[in-house]
Amino acid sequence: MDIKVIGVVGAGQMGSGIAQVAAAAGFSVILNDIKDEFVEKGFSAIEKSLARLVKKEKITEKEQQEILSRIEGSTALEDMVRADFVVEAIVENEAVKREVFGQLDNYCKEHVILSSNTSSISITKIAAATRRPEKVIGMHFMNPVPLMKLVEIIKGLATNGETFEITKGLAEKMGKVPVPANDFPGFISNRILMPMINEAIYALFEGVGSVEDIDQVMRLGMNHPMGPLALADLIGLDTCLAILEVLHSGLGDDKYRPCPLLRKYVDAGWLGRKTGQGFYNYS
Ligand code: NAD
Repeated sequence: MDIKVIGVVGAGQMGSGIAQVAAAAGFSVILNDIKDEFVEKGFSAIEKSLARLVKKEKITEKEQQEILSRIEGSTALEDMVRADFVVEAIVENEAVKREVFGQLDNYCKEHVILSSNTSSISITKIAAATRRPEKVIGMHFMNPVPLMKLVEIIKGLATNGETFEITKGLAEKMGKVPVPANDFPGFISNRILMPMINEAIYALFEGVGSVEDIDQVMRLGMNHPMGPLALADLIGLDTCLAILEVLHSGLGDDKYRPCPLLRKYVDAGWLGRKTGQGFYNYS
């Protein structure tokens, strides 16, 4: 299949990163979100990220301009009619994702693969909202997308081998290393990462250590490049909570229950870096 145009739905931190790496790999990109201001925010994140790469001499100014010129903004999902492959990166909410996949199924050409960057939600359930479940797959990029090599590739119950091979090949063309994972809540990455982050939040909640000390122990003691609370702020505390809810309900084990302190922060709108306040202050 000849893929020239990649549709990215959701221009948040992940969608903008995916649009950037797709455009850097030579694809034309349609970057969609529900409002102009969100699309613009996505573009400004891409501009900043490319400017950093120019400064580090990883790309030239000419390449920066070429990459940007390959990305077009959109606020109409109907624009996905022109896409040859779609990556969805909207909010981590099953009902909203199923709704968007139903619409994408109506708008996109019949042969087009619809992939989701979901962190935890069942690909089988998302696929069941379409009439093409064999062409629905998980394509789980890591944050920040331009820097992180891994892409988990998740087949739903009905996903066929051809869809898997095309998606794997596309991840490689984007300079990533695809790793297959089975369709269980949280797949491999978040099945392991989120309980650690949740435990760090419990340690804070129970007064075992301060924010700084918990992160310092994991950095210096376990050689993690980033402490779990700083990482939770980077991921987004709303996203962390949503993933933990999926693990908790999907696996039915109370060891995945989200820490009440995490709920409180999300209730307060303290979502981490994206709002300027999480476990750390970013203002
Ligand atoms: P984000 O909050 O930064 O961005 C989400 C974007 O989706 C927003 O701009 C929002 O306006 C848009 N959106 C919501 N509903 C939409 C719709 N119906 N149509 C089009 N756009 C819509 O979130 P994010 O961190 O980029 O996460 C997006 C997805 O990627 C989630 O499924 C998340 O679980 C997954 N993910 C996140 C991370 C991470 O570290 N943050 C890592 C891997 C995967």
